[in-house]
Amino acid sequence: MLITSLEEISQLALTKEAENIRFKTYLQQADSKWIDSKVQELNTEVEAQIDCILCGNCCKTLMINVTEQEADDLAAHKKQTRSEFDSQYLEKGTHGMMLMNTIPCPFLQENKCSVYEHRFAGCREFPGLHLPEFTGRLFSVFMHYGRCPIIFNVVEQLKAAVAFPALPQ
Ligand code: SF4
Ligand code: SF4
Repeated sequence: MLITSLEEISQLALTKEAENIRFKTYLQQADSKWIDSKVQELNTEVEAQIDCILCGNCCKTLMINVTEQEADDLAAHKKQTRSEFDSQYLEKGTHGMMLMNTIPCPFLQENKCSVYEHRFAGCREFPGLHLPEFTGRLFSVFMHYGRCPIIFNVVEQLKAAVAFPALPQ
């Protein structure tokens, strides 16, 4: 049975903090290829049961990186000049880094992405559990564990698959 309540997941992330520190240590020493294959299998099963349109929590809570090419594409789609697009939506940091200038993302409308075909690479990839080298991305995975029901449920099912001992809560 999956847990999909964002409130419950956020609370469980706090109570499982110590357990997750131990689980990260366990994963760092595990067979990374086996873990990749298990995570990808669990991800396929969990993703099929979670409706991102009902959730939308990544679009409501994450900072989104934007590349020059992505900004060009989306500005053209919105029939804006780059300078109009940049001043409305972007914040520019050092070394050419660009971020969306508001959280939640302004393109989230009625919990759906209003620019879906033109969304950014980071949006397409998130939560990224289909990617290899899961054990090399544990910082990022656990940073988002308390906000993304897909990550939360895959990690919890991974613990069950390897019979990882839970701490009493
Ligand atoms: S561009 Fe679309 S998918 Fe990406 S954060 Fe904004 S609303 Fe979400
Ligand atoms: S990817 Fe995760 S946080 Fe984003 S909408 Fe789907 S379940 Fe929610």
